[in-house]
Amino acid sequence: MKTTKLTCKMCRREGVSLCGKDNCAQKRRPYPPGVHGPTSRTRMTDYGKQLREKQKAKRIYGVSEKQFNNYYQKAMKMKGDSGENLVRLLEMRLDNTVFRAGMAKTRAAARQAVSHAHIEVNGKRVDVASYQVKTGDIIKVRETKKEKSTWKALVEATQKAEVPSWVILDTGNLEAKVTGQPSNEELQQSLFSSKLIIEFYSR
Ligand code: ZN
Repeated sequence: MKTTKLTCKMCRREGVSLCGKDNCAQKRRPYPPGVHGPTSRTRMTDYGKQLREKQKAKRIYGVSEKQFNNYYQKAMKMKGDSGENLVRLLEMRLDNTVFRAGMAKTRAAARQAVSHAHIEVNGKRVDVASYQVKTGDIIKVRETKKEKSTWKALVEATQKAEVPSWVILDTGNLEAKVTGQPSNEELQQSLFSSKLIIEFYSR
């Protein structure tokens, strides 16, 4: 799978810290990179704005152009609001769920944990980051893959995690149970406008 390496330039471009670093440049310089710095005001066309939101969402979830397009196609076929469907599909990726549960510091780290087979779903190894979790799924960090110190650090990280409404966390066992789907409120709280993304593809 083709993934772009995350740099803080991207964090700054998207206006949101994507790298997970404590010293992310976006926090120090919360404006787009470039010579004009904080004073630059780019006038964007509707197309430009729609494209920006699509790129932002793509980078937040770390999916390729092709995968993102597939999510859009799927979201359009589903009942209900296409924008919300799109966010729900992205949120319920296995790697994102691992990240949301606090089992990894960034989505990129979560993706790596999944692809390196450190995660099991319902007792079976699943190394596909795009796996769609469903109600009742139990996602667990595989004990065999974890050294004691790493395990302890993960338990501490999950204890601090702000777990979404659709996940119940058993921090001691590093186990997350999917109890439903993201609420409408959660879907609307995304860091990008799914409405603009739908508009981008519907041109
Ligand atoms: Zn950064």
